[in-house]
Amino acid sequence: MIISIASGKGGTGKTLVATSLAISLAEKRKVQLLDCDVEEPNDHIFLRPTFSKKEVASIPVPIVDEEKCTHCGECSRVCVYHALAVLKTKVMTFHELCHGCGACAYLCPEDAITEEPREIGTIEFASPNGIDFVQGKLNVGEAMAPPVIRQVKRHINSDGIAIIDASPGTSCPVVEAVKGSDFCLLVTEPTPFGLNDLILAMGAVQMMGIPCGVLINRSGTSDDQLEDYCHQENIPLLMKIPLDIEIARLYSRGIMLVEGMPQWRGRFIELFDKITEEATVHHRER
Ligand code: SF4
Ligand code: SF4
Repeated sequence: MIISIASGKGGTGKTLVATSLAISLAEKRKVQLLDCDVEEPNDHIFLRPTFSKKEVASIPVPIVDEEKCTHCGECSRVCVYHALAVLKTKVMTFHELCHGCGACAYLCPEDAITEEPREIGTIEFASPNGIDFVQGKLNVGEAMAPPVIRQVKRHINSDGIAIIDASPGTSCPVVEAVKGSDFCLLVTEPTPFGLNDLILAMGAVQMMGIPCGVLINRSGTSDDQLEDYCHQENIPLLMKIPLDIEIARLYSRGIMLVEGMPQWRGRFIELFDKITEEATVHHRER
């Protein structure tokens, strides 16, 4: 089962939820946690893993053989990212703009384009607290998060529970991370921004046909608007984590909620049971 943890905005407590859910389930189940927030992976701060393996994340970029090239311009025409410019006697390549789609090499009539990998990030592996942990990290200055996310997700093991920590927002990296999930848990907070961004995130997840539910973090006296929205849209409100000074203290010290307050483990296991139920109902209704 693949569960993605997403949020419309940053700072809602997505990392707290992803790490605590993974740790709680790992007591009895095979669990993977995949940090797909590749521009700013944070799960490691809480898990404090010792990485045992590392691989390069790369995309294939074109290399033009000028001996074979007739400067027909086809590769430049097909590249929607403007990563190639065909001049009279030369083809210029801009690898930082290339998305590695392979279209230019495929369509070159002279077979003049080969591909070579260009490093854009790293994938690291560890096993903290009985969890199979995979972290993707985009290199500084790189803009192409989706290929790194795809490479992280290739390590999903289908015979256990895979928890994907997506990046905040509703942009391409979020779509790439959430795509293919059996369920998406949206973490939000009871503020006007929280509601606004939840509505946006919800729209994106629903467009992908993925069942979702909401978790309110820093819950308190201002939950009404969020609750009304969930009720109105028929979206299950699966859990609330209160605005609590002790929880905030643990978080600020990089301590997982279920590590500092083990009594929360049962609540996260209940959350998983509710997610399974919702995902099963959705699957049956399709
Ligand atoms: S498509 Fe091939 S032959 Fe045509 S300009 Fe590009 S590299 Fe050269
Ligand atoms: S691989 Fe795709 S994105 Fe990269 S240069 Fe070729 S057509 Fe453009």
